[in-house]
Amino acid sequence: LESKNKLIVGNWKMHGSLAGNALLLNALAAGAAKLNASVLTAVCVPFPYLAQVQTLLQQSCVAWGAQDLSAHLAGAYTGEVAGSMVAEFGARWVIVGHSERRLYHQESNEQVVLKAKRALEAGLTPIICVGETLAEREAGQTEQVLGQQLQAVLTALTVAQAERMVLAYEPVWAIGTGKSATVQEVSSVHLFLRRILAAVDAKLAHVRVLYGGSMKPDNARALLAEPGVDGGLVGGASLQAGDFLAICQAAQ
Ligand code: PEP
Repeated sequence: LESKNKLIVGNWKMHGSLAGNALLLNALAAGAAKLNASVLTAVCVPFPYLAQVQTLLQQSCVAWGAQDLSAHLAGAYTGEVAGSMVAEFGARWVIVGHSERRLYHQESNEQVVLKAKRALEAGLTPIICVGETLAEREAGQTEQVLGQQLQAVLTALTVAQAERMVLAYEPVWAIGTGKSATVQEVSSVHLFLRRILAAVDAKLAHVRVLYGGSMKPDNARALLAEPGVDGGLVGGASLQAGDFLAICQAAQ
């Protein structure tokens, strides 16, 4: 397995306030300056905070992005936000197909794929989330579910597009539960995903595959040390500068 610079991405979800964000972002910018250059860091924030994040992080080595984007380019889609709008705020990343979007907004694999395409067209890097529920894992369907989620992406994107994506394996039962997947579970799924990528095109060996699901300072080092794990997507622990930076340090 090729080793890549690790990527640690914070997903703030629907948390924040202008005042609280300012403290967090300034602490992140200061802490990230002391990290080894081999670790890439980013925060994905609610849409209204993109301007604030751009202002407070533009001199730092922390990049930023959004947590979703519309499957449409522009038009009469009340309440939606286009990838081009996100890109105007200097964003580099966008999370696509997070399980909370799939679950609460009924996003299908087809919609997730369309959003990933829109992201790439807008010059954003989609972080495409895949993951099985507890019921699916217990029914022995983990690989079937993940295979369908990833195949939908690989069927719709060209190899040149797929080369630019990031995948995040996020077992739904590990998100926000405090119960991370074990290193063995993560390792086995990452190898499975890589086999699918490699079967499509050898060039897809470059694709980063992150792990997400209750990553914390105390379990990050072991998870990130797995050869197939190229970084982390961090929810809860990204809201505390100390915890997020400790995870970034564990990635060094
Ligand atoms: C996430 O929201 O992508 C996530 C992994 O959340 P948490 O770290 O809180 O489990």
